[in-house]
Amino acid sequence: MRIDLHAHSNVSDGTQSPADLVAAAALARLDVMALTDHDSTGGWPEALAAARHHGVGLVPGMEISCTTSRGVSVHLLCYLHDPDNEELLDEITKAKDARLTRAERMVVRLAEDYPLNWDDVSAHVAPGATIGRPHIADAMVAAGIVADRNEAFASILTSHSRYFVSHYAPDPVLAVELVRAAGGVPVFAHPVASARGRVAPPEVFNDMIDAGLLGVEVDHRDNPPEGRDWLRRLAKRRGLIVTGSSDYHGTGKPNLLGENLTTPQALERIVEAGTGTAAYLPL
Ligand code: AMP
Ligand code: FE
Ligand code: FE
Ligand code: ZN
Repeated sequence: MRIDLHAHSNVSDGTQSPADLVAAAALARLDVMALTDHDSTGGWPEALAAARHHGVGLVPGMEISCTTSRGVSVHLLCYLHDPDNEELLDEITKAKDARLTRAERMVVRLAEDYPLNWDDVSAHVAPGATIGRPHIADAMVAAGIVADRNEAFASILTSHSRYFVSHYAPDPVLAVELVRAAGGVPVFAHPVASARGRVAPPEVFNDMIDAGLLGVEVDHRDNPPEGRDWLRRLAKRRGLIVTGSSDYHGTGKPNLLGENLTTPQALERIVEAGTGTAAYLPL
């Protein structure tokens, strides 16, 4: 079984529509994929229709951007939550709105030094999509300022850059609680990916686990080997589900569908724990 539980469509910062993403998953011979757009479930209906068409299993999901009180960025994957749960939806909407204001402010700063305006950036955002720095990067590529998203993130768009603006994001403990209350399965995304910036300290893991965290994404290209070993020991000690996935973003990142996989046993635990939405699992 080839199970990949982390992929993005253009409902956030992936480059393919949900239907094209599911078609790509079929081509990559995945048996099951999860759609985990940033702060949005907007792609679920289209992805489900495509999953039925291609006979690919689909776990509806989302990736919530969080920030701790100390300013550490944490990404929380969640699976099978109720997309209409009001408390969770309110929080996600608040974050999505803040992302828009933040992107506008970043573009104002960038426009002082680069030939870039808001229309250039909007042109790269699908209607209703969650906007992020990758869309600004795409506009910079189109304007010939950088060669690709990676170059943009290595310099102009890093969190240390003078053009960077932060945005509201929920505390990870609150996000875990909201996901559980919505019947979802919270899984800490790329928890030891140090290249993204500061990694959450052990007390953040403990607080999230105490709040109801159910899994950790261990096999992810951004988690270094020592960190993966530490995560596996933590998972064993605290009874967490271990996942592996690609974090595919279409042509926006080198990550390829199926480059890391989740075991059928782990998927089974996720499906058992998720009560807010049904997974589509043919077979
Ligand atoms: P934001 O959500 O605006 O904070 O932007 C973060 C997003 O940018 C993450 O979800 C990543 O998918 C993407 N990202 C971060 N670093 C890179 C990179 N080096 N190349 C391409 N995409 C990146
Ligand atoms: Fe992303
Ligand atoms: Fe992430
Ligand atoms: Zn992701």
